[in-house]
Amino acid sequence: MDKADADYLIALMRTIPGFPKEGILFRDIMPVFADARGLSILMDALVSNLSIANDEFDAIAGLEARGFLFGPPLAERLGKGFIAVRKAGKLPPPTVRESYALEYGEASIEIERDAIREGERILIVDDLIATGGSASAARDLVISCGGVVAGFSFIMELSGLDGVKALGDYPASSLLTMP
Ligand code: AMP
Repeated sequence: MDKADADYLIALMRTIPGFPKEGILFRDIMPVFADARGLSILMDALVSNLSIANDEFDAIAGLEARGFLFGPPLAERLGKGFIAVRKAGKLPPPTVRESYALEYGEASIEIERDAIREGERILIVDDLIATGGSASAARDLVISCGGVVAGFSFIMELSGLDGVKALGDYPASSLLTMP
């Protein structure tokens, strides 16, 4: 993505101090999806900025909720299927569950146990990586289901939290880095 496109996306995003709680600088990417040009720039950039080649993974797993906004269209563009990683209690059994700490609060996520085939190579996507807790939990879910984590793709990385380091030794890409 060139600087003009990155600047266009950044200008669309909103920053809300103190949401959802004191001390958090919330990065709102929703206006990018609401803007036709922004959405087009975003999807093109996600495709061209992947940390792995198209033949190095078989499917995309996206985290609820904002990973659901661009995960399926990205998968469709790349000729892959999409697997939902949901908040606990939303998917019918049998599921596999992981609990983890968030930048704010705690959460559990689940995946349908049979959603991933043995040895299937999975690219994990989410809108934003902060501490890396959510993406690490998704990594562990994929592994628990017999899948292989091929890499990660994020729209935004928060600097100074070492979230990508927490993921371990996997290819990871972020379109934008913000404080
Ligand atoms: P983490 O597990 O700490 O990497 O947090 C990542 C998840 O929490 C993503 O699903 C984000 O959507 C959300 N999140 C964490 N911090 C922020 C933030 N400062 N602004 C917006 N979303 C955030």
